[in-house]
Amino acid sequence: MSPDSTFDVIVIGSGIGGLVTATQLAAKGAKVLVLERYLIPGGSAGYFERQGYKFDVGASMIFGLGNQGTTNLLTRALAAVNVHIHSIPDPIQIHYHLPNELDIKVDRLYEKFLQNLTDYFPHEAMGIRRFYDECQKVFNCLNNIELLSLEEPKYLLRVFFQHPLACLGLLKYLPLNAGDIARKYITDPLLLKFIDIECYCWSVVPADMTPMINAGMVFSDRHYGGVNYPQGGVGVIAQKLVEGLKQAGGEIKYQARVTKIITEKGQAVGVRLANGTEFYGKKIVSNSTRWDTFTKLLPQEHLPNNEKKWQQAYEKSPSFLSLHMGVKAEVLPTATACHHIILEDWQQMTASMGTLFVSIPTLLDPNLAPPGHHIIHAFTPDWIVHWQGLSATEYREKKGLVAGKIIERLEKVFPGLNAGLDYLEVGTPRTHRRFLGRMDGTYGPIPRRKLWGLLSMPFNRTAIPGLYCVGDSTFPGQGLNAVAFSGFACAHRIAEDLRL
Ligand SMILES: Cc1cc2nc3c(=O)[nH]c(=O)nc-3n(C[C@H](O)[C@H](O)[C@H](O)COP(=O)(O)OP(=O)(O)OC[C@H]3O[C@@H](n4cnc5c(N)ncnc54)[C@H](O)[C@@H]3O)c2cc1C
Repeated sequence: MSPDSTFDVIVIGSGIGGLVTATQLAAKGAKVLVLERYLIPGGSAGYFERQGYKFDVGASMIFGLGNQGTTNLLTRALAAVNVHIHSIPDPIQIHYHLPNELDIKVDRLYEKFLQNLTDYFPHEAMGIRRFYDECQKVFNCLNNIELLSLEEPKYLLRVFFQHPLACLGLLKYLPLNAGDIARKYITDPLLLKFIDIECYCWSVVPADMTPMINAGMVFSDRHYGGVNYPQGGVGVIAQKLVEGLKQAGGEIKYQARVTKIITEKGQAVGVRLANGTEFYGKKIVSNSTRWDTFTKLLPQEHLPNNEKKWQQAYEKSPSFLSLHMGVKAEVLPTATACHHIILEDWQQMTASMGTLFVSIPTLLDPNLAPPGHHIIHAFTPDWIVHWQGLSATEYREKKGLVAGKIIERLEKVFPGLNAGLDYLEVGTPRTHRRFLGRMDGTYGPIPRRKLWGLLSMPFNRTAIPGLYCVGDSTFPGQGLNAVAFSGFACAHRIAEDLRL
């Protein structure tokens, strides 16, 4: 084995989870190699460019870029390797366009949001305040403590003695779901539906199945650190982390698809690439999803029992059907918000192509589109089975048909959209699978049934010694700030294991 092919830590994948793990460990002096199958870093937080437009692949509502507290994990991850980005505050987190003529904006200012909601449900004024205040309690517990590995007993003891009340608070909420708390205070069925979509739009399950810890984080941080858009597009976060990784002595290789995790006597010791190259490491981290890790990179027939149990508790969420559009600026009325949720029928909220998500990042950073134009990214949950078994022509025709239907729906909120279209690219669950390397193009794990909050979500260590998982199929789940948390935790556990 040459010294060039041996490392302290090898990270498979350069999603935000993988990059935070890699940068944290490189900053601590570990010799780190990141292997990325694609051409650029970022995974679901990547980008692509067409005809003067710079499109975000997925994420664009970014938490964790605030300046205060302990939950601003993206800011912290960048600072740890001495890189920084400029971000632009988003004044409205989401503009909801819902059935029953609910037209609600989630203002960055907490009191203004509560007032907007109370205007629709004056009889629930007290319930609304109590529910969202309780979310703030969860957030305050999290935002008081340093967020590291819950698999590290010394750290747990330390934070417990430093912040006993915050820790006890978190223990109380860990097994709870947001729906349990909402129903304590709120009885109006329509308002409960609103709480459902508040959860669904990032957890892709209703409130009853959304862990309270995650809900507390999202529903409070939007009014604290706020939602902030990285200047230059979301891809800048990964690019800057890579810059920091290299400055700290780490290495990244692109077009380096790992096909096998090499084990010796049951322990993970290295990886093999599609071109046959092998690299060896004391610790191997997979930023691929758990489904991909344990069925494609390791022999499926030796699936560890705890992974079997996890797969019985969680299933793959649907992927997305995405329309990446370039439009003439006059399509958007003045004061349009950056993020929208459109739903016409509550019965369709969780159905394929039911809820429509819209991001218009050029309202915050106009430089992502040619002058006089905007980007509109509209996406909606969809399953890969709807796109399999089609000939190339059928696939192309179906994309055109479905895009037409979505544009029709968007026309109701943005009249003149079709006439103002300058560019359109349609991505399907197949596109997500191909370019993000995620099984079935899934957005991530969702509970198969109501679970005890976050209690069944696995941490970073796996049943295979030397192998760790990081990213959205580990605690605490999907979202850039969440996978950054997973990265901090994974790096912390490995640093302890390597005695760095
Ligand atoms: C359409 C969409 C919209 C979203 N919107 C938001 C949002 O507004 N806000 C938000 O916070 N989150 C959002 N998310 C979720 C968020 O983007 C993800 O939860 C997060 O980026 C996942 O990060 P990750 O590190 O787990 O993995 P990924 O982003 O999946 O990255 C994994 C990386 O590993 C690489 N890889 C995989 N297998 C291999 C292999 N065998 N060899 C080498 N490399 C490999 C992949 O190419 C990829 O680069 C959205 C996601 C999507 C799809």
